[in-house]
Amino acid sequence: MQQKWEVTRPERYVEGKYFASLKAKVIDPGICSHCGTCSVCPVKGIRVEDKPIYFPNWEEECIDCAACVRVCPRYDYVPLNGMGEYIEILAAKSKRFKGQDGAMATEYLVSAIEKGLIDEAIFVGRDEDWRTTVHRVRDADQVNTLLTGTKYSFAAVLPEMIQSVREGNNVGVVGTPCMVSGIRKMQREIRLFAKRVKLVIGLFCTENFYWHQLSAFLAERGIDLRKGIKTDIKKGKFIVEYADGEKAEIPVKEFDPIIPSGCKVCQDFAAVESDVSVGSVGSKAGFSTLIIRQEVAKDLLDFMKEQGTVEVIEEVKMKIVEKLIHHKMEIHPYPPKK
Ligand SMILES: Cc1cc2nc3c(=O)[nH]c(=O)nc-3n(C[C@H](O)[C@H](O)[C@H](O)COP(=O)(O)OP(=O)(O)OC[C@H]3O[C@@H](n4cnc5c(N)ncnc54)[C@H](O)[C@@H]3O)c2cc1C
Repeated sequence: MQQKWEVTRPERYVEGKYFASLKAKVIDPGICSHCGTCSVCPVKGIRVEDKPIYFPNWEEECIDCAACVRVCPRYDYVPLNGMGEYIEILAAKSKRFKGQDGAMATEYLVSAIEKGLIDEAIFVGRDEDWRTTVHRVRDADQVNTLLTGTKYSFAAVLPEMIQSVREGNNVGVVGTPCMVSGIRKMQREIRLFAKRVKLVIGLFCTENFYWHQLSAFLAERGIDLRKGIKTDIKKGKFIVEYADGEKAEIPVKEFDPIIPSGCKVCQDFAAVESDVSVGSVGSKAGFSTLIIRQEVAKDLLDFMKEQGTVEVIEEVKMKIVEKLIHHKMEIHPYPPKK
């Protein structure tokens, strides 16, 4: 017997193909987070580049399947916020990798490969100008210092993750809270992704940037990103660290003009829908703060302990994490204040 498979399609907000509604409701009003989930588009028309999401020739090429609006976390947007549900909160560091903080995002992904949970992990690397690049990793030897560490620019993680899943892989992925929400919405809508995306690591995040705007902004202030070996945001300052140990610092307040409008409506600091959230604040230098939310993340931490690859401490300064959670909710009201 032939099976009939139907999906519920969201409301159209303008006449015409569904991409027109995504454009009218999310992209044109500037609430798109640039998470890239809409690149699930079966005709691969939607582009995730260093500019707002777009679909050249959508009038001709869009097949009106509604995939983009079904997976978009900003279509009929209800902001997430708060600490979210969790099993435990800890600080930890990897004993084998060097990362932004405790390299726990990397440790999680590589441990998931070694435990056999996933075939591939998606990492965000960078070129010498700090443009983001996206890579698939299959074992610990493929990890290098360009793949670890924070890049404060949008990255096309989701298109790569989608491609990897379509090739039949089980994947692990790390991303900003908006990407995590995109993945979760996609998993609720499309069974293949619910089955194949086995580990979702969320990063604490206040905002991200378009690379072309960030690099121009820094260049105007005499900062050459090419010479930087690490970028960080600490205590209200954006910091670029150079190979000789010198540092350039700019107050984050000055970045206001280049904060993307889609970040300004996001209230989710702690990536509440992730399996485990990883951040810098709350832990001493060299450690990552972990908010373990799902059993899969707890099991992986147990595995790391058995393998002897992590050092775990209980001490996390929750007040500062809570402060940043509330700060993000305050500075990003939704709907935005006129
Ligand atoms: C845009 C952004 C803003 C952040 N803001 C805060 C903040 O306000 N407060 C705070 O405590 N922490 C923030 N973080 C998280 C923090 O900088 C570290 O990423 C986190 O503590 C993990 O460190 P680690 O040493 O465990 O990670 P590592 O082991 O070094 O791994 C870092 C991982 O992050 C991934 N990654 C790097 N850049 C990006 C990117 N642009 N998009 C998606 N994935 C990426 C890499 O693929 C890698 O897997 C932010 C991260 C990002 C990307």
